[in-house]
Amino acid sequence: MAVAGLINEEDLTTVRERSRIDEVVGAYVTLRPAGGGSLTGLCPFHEEKTPSFRVTPARGFFHCFGCGEGGDVISFVQKIQNVTFVEAVEWLADRAGVQLRYAEGGPNRPEPGLRLRILEANRIAAEFFAEQLRAPEGLPGRQFLAGRGFDEDAATHFGIGFAPRGGKSLGSHLKAKGFSDAELVRAGLVRDSGWDFFQGRVLWPIRDAGRSVLGFGARRLFDDDRMPAKYLNTPETPVYKKSSVLYGLDLARGSIAKKGQAVVVEGYTDVMAAHLAGVDTAVASCGTAFGDDHARMLARLIDTQGVQSGEVIFTFDGDAAGQAAALKVFKGDQHFSSQTYVAVEPTGLDPCDLRIQHGDAAVRELVARRVPLYQFVMRNTIAGFDLDRVEGRVAALRAAAPLVSSIRDASLVSGYVRELAGMLGMNPDEVRAEVKRVHAGARPSRPVEPRPEPVAPTALPIPDPRDRGLEAERGTLRLLLRAPEIFTATLNDLVADDFAHPAYRALFERIGAVTDRTGDWAQQLAGELDPVLAQLVVTLAVEPVLREPTAGYAAEYAAGVRLQATARRIAALKSRLQRTNPVDDPAAHQKMFQTLIELESRRKQLLGLATGPAL
Ligand code: ZN
Repeated sequence: MAVAGLINEEDLTTVRERSRIDEVVGAYVTLRPAGGGSLTGLCPFHEEKTPSFRVTPARGFFHCFGCGEGGDVISFVQKIQNVTFVEAVEWLADRAGVQLRYAEGGPNRPEPGLRLRILEANRIAAEFFAEQLRAPEGLPGRQFLAGRGFDEDAATHFGIGFAPRGGKSLGSHLKAKGFSDAELVRAGLVRDSGWDFFQGRVLWPIRDAGRSVLGFGARRLFDDDRMPAKYLNTPETPVYKKSSVLYGLDLARGSIAKKGQAVVVEGYTDVMAAHLAGVDTAVASCGTAFGDDHARMLARLIDTQGVQSGEVIFTFDGDAAGQAAALKVFKGDQHFSSQTYVAVEPTGLDPCDLRIQHGDAAVRELVARRVPLYQFVMRNTIAGFDLDRVEGRVAALRAAAPLVSSIRDASLVSGYVRELAGMLGMNPDEVRAEVKRVHAGARPSRPVEPRPEPVAPTALPIPDPRDRGLEAERGTLRLLLRAPEIFTATLNDLVADDFAHPAYRALFERIGAVTDRTGDWAQQLAGELDPVLAQLVVTLAVEPVLREPTAGYAAEYAAGVRLQATARRIAALKSRLQRTNPVDDPAAHQKMFQTLIELESRRKQLLGLATGPAL
């Protein structure tokens, strides 16, 4: 094993000697004496009800008579944590306090012992933050959680914490425990300036599969927070690499392996909501888009069980950003994408809001409604075409054929051709011919297919200012930026979800978060926004306002936005009602029907208010 040779042989022996296999395994499996000095327990690598997994400390070996897995303490760590040999040795070395030496050309380990110090500092920090959440000062954090439907038990289960506003309390706490300033800065817990990295925020500890705290995700709670970003994560440290951490992995790992399924959601609260609703395979990437490394981590976990067709289910938004994200996964690793599914909630609610508004069952239902990723991507691609007309079908085929043609795995292509033909109502031969034509044209004798351009799923699409269907949203934002005083204190009861266009929705959310809308607040806000939104603010500021800005004018526009939002919700609910069999769940069906009646009555009210230019 060449890689193994890079670690000093003597150190390797020391690590093996100091890592008692019964202790290491015991952290994952409950072991009982089995006679002859052996121990036994339920195998962590296959599902079983009676123990056939055996550990023999005297020989430093484990073996499962059920599934045949076996090996020494290093291979156990490799398998259970899905890490490489070197990573497993490093993890055990940290645990045993062994400083590893590397042969020349070996991996560049930051500094001996630093990883271990950082993990220890993180562990103490997580405890500190959790205590602070329960302290009087932690009230805003508890209120935030309560508002998302999470009680104290949930907070404890997920280890949620609160970073005090003082600015130096964590640093002092850790320094009293013997950590140096330099260590705390390297851990990403304290800034160079000496201030705590996280202040006045609610925090989620991000752990690896072995439950070590690698870093934190944090959400702002206070309007005067000095950091503009709503979410803040631990910066890159020797233990925290955002491209290869997944929030919830520590809790989901076992179920992911057992069920051969992983559910990828977007935020920390979505992971919590999913787990509490019984979807215990949910994880989320932290402060970055879900990438190839994340995909590989999940694929390895699922493959551990030898499940033939594992499922990775994404709960993308149905909006443009979600579709771009789906397309990126589709064009990425194709072995991965062929077992990838998409679960889209028609109302656009994320799992956290879905649980609050419709309960645990709705979250489970969302996951159960998944469709294959390729189907989702193809449907979105052909959605804009009129398939009732021949020209429409031909144009849709031209748009979708490059997608199918881009698939490198030939064994998948014919299935996708048939699927696409079905969606278009065309002859499969016709579709196959077009795919071949695109394939031949797009790729002139190039030996290696270049990797597709990464699509940033977070980039907001720029709205078309002439889109009549969005004039109510655009006009409302225009007024809000120019004459905020004509709106009520609650911004005429508008909420971000009322805005259909993601850029408008995001801008409204940011405006709503501003507490003092006087002076040059709009300019200041523009300075904090990403380029797309900043540009939007500038454009809206110079567009003409057609009438004297009065409270009545604002009310008309706001009612227009809410009317359109209500109409969309009605349409989504109707389509869901059509797909739901009332016999399966009469209570849920009745509830949907009741909601529909309420929405219809609200629509009638709004119709009376939203006259004038907004519509
Ligand atoms: Zn086994």
